Amino acid sequence: MESPSHLPRIDEKREEFLRAAGDHYAYGLGDSAFQQQCTTEFGPSLASTTYLDYAASAPAPLSALHRFTEKIRSTLYSNPHSRSSSSIATSLEIERCRGRILKDLFGLDDAQKRSQWDVIFTAGATAAMKLVAEAFSWQNGSKYYYLKQSHTSLVGVRGCALSRGAVVAAMDVNDMLECSQDDSSPTLFAYPAQCNATGQRLGLGYGVQLKRRHPQACILLDAAAYLSTAILDLASIPINQAPDFIPCSFYKIVGYPTGLGCLIVKRSSASYLQRTSYFGGGTIDAISVSSPFWSQPRRSVVPGPIHERFEDGTLPFLDIIALDQALDVHQHLYQSQQHVSRHVSALTRFATRELSLLRHANGCPVVQQHRAFSGSEYLEEPGPTIGFSLLGPSSEFIGHVHLEQLAAINGFQMRTGGLCNTGILTSTFDISDEEWMSEYNRGRSCWDDEEFTSSPQDQTRPLGIVRISFGASSTIDDVLQWLSFIRRYFVVSETVVALYKPLSTPRSSAPAAAKLKTLMLYPIKSCGGQSIPRNSSWQIIATGLRYDREWLLIDNASRRTLSQKQYPRMALIRPSVDLKRRKLVVCAPGMADLVLPLDTSDEDTASANVCSDIVAVAPSGESADEWFSAFLDLQCTLHRLSAGASRHAHFDRATGSVPILLSNESPFLLITQPSVDQVNEWIRDNRNSDISAAEDPVHPACFRANFLLSSPPSSSSSSSLPPFFEDHVDLLRIGTQTFQVLARCRRCLMICVNQKTGCKTKEPFSCLARKRKSARGKIEFGVHLMWREDLSEGDGEATVCVGDAVTLASLREGEEGGAGYS
Ligand SMILES: *Cc1c(COP(=O)(O)O)cnc(C)c1O
Repeated sequence: MESPSHLPRIDEKREEFLRAAGDHYAYGLGDSAFQQQCTTEFGPSLASTTYLDYAASAPAPLSALHRFTEKIRSTLYSNPHSRSSSSIATSLEIERCRGRILKDLFGLDDAQKRSQWDVIFTAGATAAMKLVAEAFSWQNGSKYYYLKQSHTSLVGVRGCALSRGAVVAAMDVNDMLECSQDDSSPTLFAYPAQCNATGQRLGLGYGVQLKRRHPQACILLDAAAYLSTAILDLASIPINQAPDFIPCSFYKIVGYPTGLGCLIVKRSSASYLQRTSYFGGGTIDAISVSSPFWSQPRRSVVPGPIHERFEDGTLPFLDIIALDQALDVHQHLYQSQQHVSRHVSALTRFATRELSLLRHANGCPVVQQHRAFSGSEYLEEPGPTIGFSLLGPSSEFIGHVHLEQLAAINGFQMRTGGLCNTGILTSTFDISDEEWMSEYNRGRSCWDDEEFTSSPQDQTRPLGIVRISFGASSTIDDVLQWLSFIRRYFVVSETVVALYKPLSTPRSSAPAAAKLKTLMLYPIKSCGGQSIPRNSSWQIIATGLRYDREWLLIDNASRRTLSQKQYPRMALIRPSVDLKRRKLVVCAPGMADLVLPLDTSDEDTASANVCSDIVAVAPSGESADEWFSAFLDLQCTLHRLSAGASRHAHFDRATGSVPILLSNESPFLLITQPSVDQVNEWIRDNRNSDISAAEDPVHPACFRANFLLSSPPSSSSSSSLPPFFEDHVDLLRIGTQTFQVLARCRRCLMICVNQKTGCKTKEPFSCLARKRKSARGKIEFGVHLMWREDLSEGDGEATVCVGDAVTLASLREGEEGGAGYS
């Protein structure tokens, strides 16, 4: 799928955008001066990547940090609870900052208008929502109504509401306006000003409508996403139609400081918030030390400064000062939030349009953009967030994890998955609450890599979407990079052609022949492999090659099993089993060999979590731990799977249970040399059109197989194995032993670690993603096997040997196994 030639070139698109956007882009600095400003402010941190995740957090500009360090170097700030001069100076700065937040982010230029509001500092938007949830004067019969497409932090308010006897309902936009409710008990409506997953905006306007219809109800307006690139102009509406409580986080606007947010409270609604039963320094005027227990909360008389009743303990005063500096710098760089709005809106309109115009050669769209709050007449122009799914040429959904992996190796930062917004998935893909529960009961959760619902009769509904988002320092080049990435990998420019013909090897005809070229075992999970020399045999058992994946490394801090995906340097650790000396010898560059006994008895045992299975393991001793910790520069421990412990491979096949040790999926993994050669050929062909692909040829080792097959050297071109022959094999025999194919092996970014250098590469994943994507968007290479002892020959120890003849048979007569590769 090369870039279709009929598509316009990038520089033409760039010109077209710049012409149309005019001064709305780049803050009047002009394109190149703006690019220069980005380079100065974000330097190398953004230079090596394309950042499209502003909705998650904004990157921190360097000058904000400089200004902050200058500030604390020149002025002493200290705990605002004292009466020293530094303490008083700190208090003044904090109070000034409250006013400035109302002015800069909420449009309240007028001091009189500002006095109708108060700012309670919190640890973030979520903490502000939690404050409202806990402090709201819920009563029996109170109601908490929230929009379905809310962030989970807003949904979570219902926990407090329910526990205090309130009635809770999730609603659509129009239902919330139309619903009837009596005013006898305090009611809280909640909605996001901007949907974090799709960018759709309800802003203040929707709240005004709610207030018109439900004048007695309070409104909790989640402004965390909206405020990152816009102001919420409270001065533009009458105070009685304004929301009552507005949570936000500052890192989403200015990047730094993190861990600071606030709750904006309408003073006239403060009486709905009651102090929770906890009190602590800062929120108390007087207490008794012991019984009878008595305490007087700080200025409990309303109206007093509301924040004093809710800010327990010492405020993060340096962070507040950092925020003040950051807001100065933000203004200096971008002039105002209104300018930021225009800048990002030009980019968003362009990106939205270009994505919607992408077509496969058969005319089908490539992108399906998702929207929240459909049917509402109160939508504003959307914020700079685009939530979408990719579609294949038959309009089938492409999995989001697949896209995320490709985006990662191509240097993009963006977000995929459920995006803390279950309501979006529910309404977009029609997934019911019952289905969420059954997915969970099947072991699936928000954080895993599952791409589609598991109900067997219907495998087409995604469990995640893709989100890109822009912010103050996004550039047109970020957008163009993303568009060309989508074109390159996902626009199918030719009719889908199967790359290979299904194998016409009827059961009766002679099976194809090959030989076992390389035999590899990986004694320590995720470390380098041991190649078994020619003509020496190796024992096989039901769980795999003897001693394959019996040891593992565990990170002391997180207790997680270490993987090459996170620590590519693990590839340089080469363990080998020495059967004669009964030792496990481990080598690594610059390290003396580590020699461990092969025969151990588990005295102490511990447990380890391997791919969600809990297994019994035994430590290998301190000297081993020190050796690995030194080489990886990470405190970790080596463990061995306890004797007799095993796990089960999960395959939806009638093969019964397949035992495995610490390998990820199956007892044995097989690949073939012709398939590896084919991948290298594709990479070579592509190099002419893509100079960035200048990497070394792909070595079979990156696939971390146990068996590498090749055509017999004598074979003529007609009898040699074609690439991807293994896809169609059901049974094979290596020497005297028989194996059954369980499934094709689905590949992840692990294949992008060069096993010789321990460095990450882009290939072969990038190439396979373009050439070998299955219809469901999966990248498959090689096959999983189990040993069929019942169909094997010989008594005693079963072994295989490098050089063994291999026969391969397809039992599936005439079946087209590999349909759908493009
Ligand atoms: C980011 C976000 C939140 C959560 O904010 P935190 O800073 O993580 O507390 C809540 N709602 C929306 C709409 C958001 O975008």
